[in-house]
Amino acid sequence: MSTYDVAIIGSGPGGYVAAIRCAQLGMKTAIIEKYNVLGGTCLNVGCIPSKALLDSSHHYEEAIKHFEDHGIEIPGDIKVNFKKMVERKASVVEQTTKGIEFLMNKNKIDVFTGMGAFKDATHIEITGGEKNETIEAKNTIIATGSKPSTLPFIKLDKDRIITSTEALSLKEIPKHLIVIGGGVIGLELGQVYRRLGAEVSVVEYMDRIIPTMDSAQSKELMKAMKKQGVKFHLSHKVSAVSKKGKEITVTATDKKDKEVTFKGDYCLVSVGRKPYTDGLKAENAGVKITERGMIDVNDQLQTNIKNIYAIGDVVRGAMLAHKASEEGVLVAEIIAGQKPHINYNLIPGVVYTWPEVASVGKTEAQLKEAKVEYKSGQFPMRALGRSRASGDIDGFVKILSDKKTDEVLGVHMVGARVADVIAEAVVAMEYRASAEDIARMSHAHPTYAEAVKEAALAATDNRALHI
Ligand code: FAD
Repeated sequence: MSTYDVAIIGSGPGGYVAAIRCAQLGMKTAIIEKYNVLGGTCLNVGCIPSKALLDSSHHYEEAIKHFEDHGIEIPGDIKVNFKKMVERKASVVEQTTKGIEFLMNKNKIDVFTGMGAFKDATHIEITGGEKNETIEAKNTIIATGSKPSTLPFIKLDKDRIITSTEALSLKEIPKHLIVIGGGVIGLELGQVYRRLGAEVSVVEYMDRIIPTMDSAQSKELMKAMKKQGVKFHLSHKVSAVSKKGKEITVTATDKKDKEVTFKGDYCLVSVGRKPYTDGLKAENAGVKITERGMIDVNDQLQTNIKNIYAIGDVVRGAMLAHKASEEGVLVAEIIAGQKPHINYNLIPGVVYTWPEVASVGKTEAQLKEAKVEYKSGQFPMRALGRSRASGDIDGFVKILSDKKTDEVLGVHMVGARVADVIAEAVVAMEYRASAEDIARMSHAHPTYAEAVKEAALAATDNRALHI
């Protein structure tokens, strides 16, 4: 039987990054993945394929709606070859997952294909792959991720009543896609199909979309997506979803308690994700799982069993790839005897619609609830030369800073490329910058990042220059 310093169960952005860091730190490392491709949700049915389809559909929308504004004329009709678009997405995924295989080899990490299940706290049985075997691990990191969740009364047929996984590999463009849930995944995929010509109706239980983000972002994104033709039904509680042939009926009650029905040919259920521990046999190792199915961990991401850790979507906190990866590095370094740290307040959140939405730190609602006195400075993208040049004028940057000390407490953005621009805010906040600090730094002209400087100027004595 092979013995390892560390065994990692699950090869998503939590697991594979943890494996690389463990190997870098000189530990004999094994990674176990039940599928025969590495990369987990993020690379196979999450971040990467969704961004590939978002990018392809964005190019199409630009070509049919905006090329003319730029003086580009294409003779004849511009058509979507949806099959090719989905094939391209598959090839992007393949290149990326192959890259993880290369990294495992490079770092001399042993990869086991099969389902990993605890026999006890130091032995893991691997089944369902080429051969069944048991390995011994001094330490184990559980990185088994999450799966889409649904509502108790919805029967997902994975054909027309689908989750994000199926929505990334449809055979045709829906005529009318009903999206249940106005969160990140529903909006990103809803926008893909709207751009490709589908009618898209978003049915959301709360009174705003992306409800965990700053409310100004919810409003701005909804305004932009409405302009693109997406229909929103907020404060609607879905009570039934049924299918007759190719027709899907979604029944909901609105805020006046009136029953409303939506008819379409596909229904995307995007109501969140749940931690995944099926088949792990955590009980054999004595690992505690919470009522909500999460693995219970302390601040060091250690479970109730000393040599077993858990990271990523299977533990508390934001279900994001970069959060999982930070946790992977942290646990590897803890096992190696180091004292690493993660600032959970500074994990950025992004929605990759167009305009993009990005946030870090506290929202206005959170500051109000915590009774923190703050100042706010906001700058509209339409006042930027860069935005006018590209034609991407929707959105804003908002900076919230402490009323007394001016320390930046939260930065919230909507606009072109803000998924990248948010990194500036993360760096500034990590170094505990004041709004004045940002306001005094030179930002290249013309860039979208200039909106950050202008918002910082607005937050300090209302002195934005270009508005
Ligand atoms: P996962 O990536 O879920 O990986 C877990 C792995 O463990 C899987 O491969 C699974 O097969 C394996 N596994 C489970 N149990 C066992 C077992 N017993 N034995 C062996 N293997 C096992 N996040 C972002 O930050 N940015 C985005 O743009 C983004 N877009 C997304 C879009 C979509 C459509 C979806 C669904 C998610 C998106 N996410 C995004 C979320 C992101 O994918 C997750 O937060 C991330 O994948 C979590 O990583 P993880 O390592 O914890 O788990």
